[in-house]
Amino acid sequence: MMSESSAILRRRTRNVRIGPVLVGSGAPVVVQSMTNTDTADHISTAIQVAQLARAGSEIVRITVNTQEAAAAVPKVREQLLKMNVEVPLVGDFHFNGHKLLRDNPVCAEVLDKLRINPGNVGRGSKRDEQYAALIEIACRHDKPVRIGVNWGSLDQALLARVMDDNARRAEPKDAIEVMREAMVTSALESAQQAVEWGLSPDKIILSCKVSGVQDLIAIYSELARRCDYPLHLGLTEAGMGSKGIVASTAALAVLLQQGIGDTIRVSLTPEPNGDRSKEVIVAQEILQTMGLRAFTPMVAACPGCGRTTSTFFQELAADIQTYVRDRMPEWKTQYDGVERMTLAVMGCVVNGPGESKHANIGISLPGTGETPVAPVFEDGEKTVTLKGDNIAAEFRAIVDAYVARTYTRKNTGRTGV
Ligand code: SF4
Repeated sequence: MMSESSAILRRRTRNVRIGPVLVGSGAPVVVQSMTNTDTADHISTAIQVAQLARAGSEIVRITVNTQEAAAAVPKVREQLLKMNVEVPLVGDFHFNGHKLLRDNPVCAEVLDKLRINPGNVGRGSKRDEQYAALIEIACRHDKPVRIGVNWGSLDQALLARVMDDNARRAEPKDAIEVMREAMVTSALESAQQAVEWGLSPDKIILSCKVSGVQDLIAIYSELARRCDYPLHLGLTEAGMGSKGIVASTAALAVLLQQGIGDTIRVSLTPEPNGDRSKEVIVAQEILQTMGLRAFTPMVAACPGCGRTTSTFFQELAADIQTYVRDRMPEWKTQYDGVERMTLAVMGCVVNGPGESKHANIGISLPGTGETPVAPVFEDGEKTVTLKGDNIAAEFRAIVDAYVARTYTRKNTGRTGV
């Protein structure tokens, strides 16, 4: 595992402050997420915001699409304070955003950032007028703005202009390149307009969301080349389950590896009644497996093969990953650096002891036909051999004891007992 001072050099950008969170050059890549509740239902929305924040979302976006939703935003904030949850809230505005913010000034006041899609703020001559009204409100309330272009709602007048310009070229670009150019142009021109209307460049974050991996990589590479605004990365409509996770990871990893991207969201479609926090965990895992940040101890486990005829090692790996994730909220208030701990759960003696020695704590379980014992390694040394029916509980206790004696206790400057 690489440290946070990884060899990946971040692109130099401006810094934008979203509440207490810094986004941009020099700051760690920030994880964010979005609710799927009706914001007018302020209790359900606050509960989901709290779930996302507790899962590790450092910024949470909520939909503000109606007068009822706009009126509920201060109540969401109030409810979160009652629940002891302090997380920056972003309001997502579209066609009627200027009106909702004008009619509900407290909504603008309690939000930490506004997200505006320049393709969806108004049609024809109304577009600039309504976009300017939104920027004026952001300036008046001193709020940062994400200018978020989306392929599904690209400004059609701008697209037509870029297509006309392309048709006049000696060697016109193909349709995909024109679309990509239109996305980048829309983001840059919209940012320029906002600056001309008085928004500080240090209050702007850009995004250009598409659903194709190669499109996203090409568009963000170009955007990074042409501006120094912090960039919000995310593949839109990534999809469900493994498809959504793989597509998001493929796109984001390529860009993050080049130092492009200052805040990320993984837009997974949850299963019906599924856990919305999954998108936060996936975003954290992308950053942690790339060595860009550390959030929670990671468990390495072998895939299993014909040498393992029981599912015990898979169950133990899942049990330990769940256990450390559940313990993290408490551990991170007590111990510095515990999020970088590594664990290994291996299925037999072939690679088990070797892999276990490379983790902070590893266990090598017996494969088929092997002696039914499980040696445990701590920092490369075999410390104990477990056997019997209680291996899972005993291994958890070993993990607890390792954490307590290895990581520095916060506020005391002493290591644990
Ligand atoms: S460690 Fe053993 S059980 Fe696991 S994949 Fe390798 S050979 Fe198979």
